[in-house]
Amino acid sequence: MTEQQHEGGCQCGAIRYRIDGAPLFAALCHCTMCRRAHAAPAVAWAMFQETQVSFLAGRPKEYASSAEGRRGFCPACGTQLCFTASFIPGLIDIAIGSLDHPEALAPTLHYWESKRLPWMHFSDGWPRFPELPPFG
Ligand SMILES: [Zn+2]
Ligand SMILES: [Zn+2]
Repeated sequence: MTEQQHEGGCQCGAIRYRIDGAPLFAALCHCTMCRRAHAAPAVAWAMFQETQVSFLAGRPKEYASSAEGRRGFCPACGTQLCFTASFIPGLIDIAIGSLDHPEALAPTLHYWESKRLPWMHFSDGWPRFPELPPFG
């Protein structure tokens, strides 16, 4: 596998991060929690080991969006950056939209397809999982 490196951050630049290596996978989430947190119809995530992600400037503030999940965002500008949860120990989802080059990490599947907004249509042909995809 070729060594990848990605950088990204929030809209105001207070938080910057670097990611070493490839994601476990990348996907578009249609769940209602991501939709509300990002105020967006769907959210593209790339999942990494937490050890792959280094914060170069600032640290996300965390919001407990459920009993299991924590959503990290910039306290200065509000950009949603990451997601961690007790059901994915040691892993972190990074919002692909926060990367400097989001075009470099393409999702390969849809999940929570059962919650997809009916006016959002995709012709990508990626696999669609009604709820969570199988991990690992
Ligand atoms: Zn910010
Ligand atoms: Zn979601």
